Amino acid sequence: MSYDDTNIFAKILSGQIPCKKIYEDKFVLSFYDINPQKKIHALVIPKGRYSNLDDFSLNASSEEIVGLLKGINIVAKKLGISIDTGKGYRALVNIGEHGGQEVPHLHFHLFGGESTGRMIE
Ligand code: AMP
Repeated sequence: MSYDDTNIFAKILSGQIPCKKIYEDKFVLSFYDINPQKKIHALVIPKGRYSNLDDFSLNASSEEIVGLLKGINIVAKKLGISIDTGKGYRALVNIGEHGGQEVPHLHFHLFGGESTGRMIE
């Protein structure tokens, strides 16, 4: 699957569209979801051009994969929802059509700040 450079997260990464930034490093950008589903709803995206988790798993470098996972933990700590700084959270990735993915740039949703309820409702 080819990467769509016009997707909204590509535009956020290139600075064409603003975001409410939480954290940024060499590998990831994190910002608040524009339509929060829980008290805290953050997104963590890799800086590389990856359409979805399968694309990332197949094509990202080991450094990028570690960078994304470490980035999620850094963001959760920063938001006070990680296991050591808070009460935990839900990390969720939608993949493709049946997964309900709307934006074709890989993103992890982090939900927290309150109980996240049943996994599938
Ligand atoms: P998904 O359905 O997993 O692709 O999730 C896409 C998410 O991106 C949704 O939760 C949207 O609310 C969120 N979203 C869309 N546009 C923006 C934006 N400009 N800034 C922040 N979040 C956005």
